[in-house]
Amino acid sequence: MSPASGPTDGPAVSLDDVHKHYGSTRAVDGVSLTVERGEFFGLLGPNGAGKTTLVEIMEGQRRPDAGTVSVLGHHPWPRNPGLLPLIGVQTQSSAFFVRLTAAEHLRTMAALYRTDRAAAERALAMVGLTEQGEVRVDDLSGGQRQRLAIASALVHEPELIFLDEPTAALDPQARRALWQVLRDLKGKGRTIIYTTHHLDEAEALCDRVAILVDGRIAALDSPSRLIAQGSPTTRLVVPAERLTLEAARALQGVDRATRDGDTIVLETLDAGHVLAALEPVAGLQGVQTRTANLEDVYLALTGAAQPQAQP
Ligand code: ADP
Repeated sequence: MSPASGPTDGPAVSLDDVHKHYGSTRAVDGVSLTVERGEFFGLLGPNGAGKTTLVEIMEGQRRPDAGTVSVLGHHPWPRNPGLLPLIGVQTQSSAFFVRLTAAEHLRTMAALYRTDRAAAERALAMVGLTEQGEVRVDDLSGGQRQRLAIASALVHEPELIFLDEPTAALDPQARRALWQVLRDLKGKGRTIIYTTHHLDEAEALCDRVAILVDGRIAALDSPSRLIAQGSPTTRLVVPAERLTLEAARALQGVDRATRDGDTIVLETLDAGHVLAALEPVAGLQGVQTRTANLEDVYLALTGAAQPQAQP
């Protein structure tokens, strides 16, 4: 262990009643949370919810106005050199050394952290870029660049890694491939604090998520518990040519029926009974069943626009 290491027990991050105001804007308005070591922790919320400010406070880039912050047993503010080797922050691609190859870029990062040169090769392997090591950063694909950004956060083998939307702007295949990289990282016992707008991703990867709204935590739990607590409703989606809204609303067990494009959406707490009632009226062919997911919980909490229901 390096002499800079903090205590190895206790949580990775502990925030108690943290506030940060910009003038009259309460960017972070009394946030308390704990991230355990080895946890994959998601930070979700609409733009302006305070995610960046909160992450920057944890990273020691911003000073909170009030509250207590502990990261791996250290106080991140005033800027704490003892903490820097222990945390990894994903590079924005604008900060790449673009004329270098991927391996050279990482060796340069390793030198900045005074880590051994072999660390660059290990980081490349970790994100599946070994074969691209000699490719210039300029010539990497979007997905490969995102992997390199993550590798930059890993090169000094930090215990706690902050990743900010690492899969933004990736095609679905590259996104899924990156999920595996992230799962592998977690498998190696790293703590990950993950900001994303992709709720399917948060649901698939995160042990727990905090949903921030207006600088406060609106919900904090595992995705499965949030879904179970927040939205026990099942939606049945029926082709509109087979069922009128009136007939839908008359079905026993239907709590709400709306038209969404060329479908009728039935919401129910008792999908079995509604399906049984629906069959003689409309048949079941083409009927889709959708249980709640993290996006439903998120939309309910953040008040984001629901699909427009048509009368
Ligand atoms: P998010 O990352 O969730 O989009 P931010 O932390 O960037 O949220 O912003 C939270 C709020 O604080 C927003 O209203 C934003 O406009 C405001 N804000 C962020 N940084 C500053 C700053 N440096 N000066 C003034 N207001 C800021």
